[in-house]
Amino acid sequence: MIYNSPRGTYDYFGEDVKYINFIIDASKELFKLYKYSEIITPHFEYTEVFSRGIGENSEIVKKEMYTFLDKKGRSLTLRPEGTASVVRAVVERKLYSENLPLKLFYIGNMFRYEKPQKGRLREFKQIGIEAIGSESPAIDAEVIWILHDLFNNLGFKNLILNINSIGCSNCRKTYINLLEEYLKPHYENLCDDCKNRYGKNTLRVFDCKVQSCKDILNNAPKISDYLCGDCQNHLSEVFNLLNALDIKYIHNKNLVRGFDYYTRTIFEITSNDIDSAQNALGGGGRYDNLIEEFGGPKLSSIGFAIGLERTMILMKELGIDINEDEKNLVSVYLISMSEDYNSFVFKILKFLRKNKIICDNNFNIKNISKEIKNAKLNGYTHIIIIGEDEFKNNLITIKDLNNFTQTKIDWLNEKNKLLNLLKK
Ligand code: AMP
Repeated sequence: MIYNSPRGTYDYFGEDVKYINFIIDASKELFKLYKYSEIITPHFEYTEVFSRGIGENSEIVKKEMYTFLDKKGRSLTLRPEGTASVVRAVVERKLYSENLPLKLFYIGNMFRYEKPQKGRLREFKQIGIEAIGSESPAIDAEVIWILHDLFNNLGFKNLILNINSIGCSNCRKTYINLLEEYLKPHYENLCDDCKNRYGKNTLRVFDCKVQSCKDILNNAPKISDYLCGDCQNHLSEVFNLLNALDIKYIHNKNLVRGFDYYTRTIFEITSNDIDSAQNALGGGGRYDNLIEEFGGPKLSSIGFAIGLERTMILMKELGIDINEDEKNLVSVYLISMSEDYNSFVFKILKFLRKNKIICDNNFNIKNISKEIKNAKLNGYTHIIIIGEDEFKNNLITIKDLNNFTQTKIDWLNEKNKLLNLLKK
């Protein structure tokens, strides 16, 4: 009997783990430059944190949450995203009493009961940031700047940054009335999902991928044409600052996002190199009311999250190489001809590892020429061979796999010679 991992989950190993860690390391390095510090929150929260935070009528809350009762009958939910948890933690721990904006980042697994397909999983990883406690358009620009830098540093070239504003609660209310007026005569021609969105979460019709709905929306009023003066100025200033940074973006008037908590600036980064609905690598937006709704003070905030798996898949497809650093590392494969030499072998490995040299050895004794071939295939720069002569006379035979020069070293007296040979 062989067990499968649950649908929509995945095991990561080999190259995948290298990519994941590469993306995590690059993100951490970048966030440090902007003075963000890490926050680690639980993988599950009381269900209300998400249902109130993300919104009862959102797709995620209605259809996609992993919700269960614990043994005391309390309703808990595996986190489907990071922002609601971070906001809960900030309010509960009163983290906002420090300097504002409070700059936090998180890295972790999220859970959504979605229809699994390429780049769409039920357990996936996100890296996100939250800047809490500033209304300034400068922080919007900085957050978008970080998103832009992150993908640039990872080696992406062909990405599109879409930005829009969905206004504040005032201008949005007026606009949604207008949109509903516009959609009313088309109601019967909307898809079932859009019919459901109408009246509850009308803005989300812009997310619909059905062509007939898209056609209807072509001539619909667009929210960013109905912003109040303050929201309009805010968006213009975000654009000014991005222009000053030479960051290319598109003002995508059709952009909406799936969480109820967003206000004003929203953005998404997509790839032209993926021909599928799953072309969004990351996205985010401003949330000016959420902290107050969670019982905290009025603290305007903004953040984004990127999907780690989607980023990894695209990096691999585009052939973005992450092994540059490793190629320059010296590494030794030690081939022993007999189990009887193990104590000598371990002494050599101990010495190498103490000197921070990557090494491994053959635990199973096999054909030596096969071992050498494999060592080369696996990227080792050197091999050490321990045969009968070496074992009896305390010698090491070391071979450079680049030029095949071979040197014999007296283990007891010439350890430094060994280190010198291994220097690049
Ligand atoms: P969201 O939290 O929905 O704004 O998503 C932010 C990013 O997380 C997306 O752009 C994707 O890269 C990633 N993401 C969201 N949902 C999934 C999923 N089900 N599977 C894999 N990645 C996802």
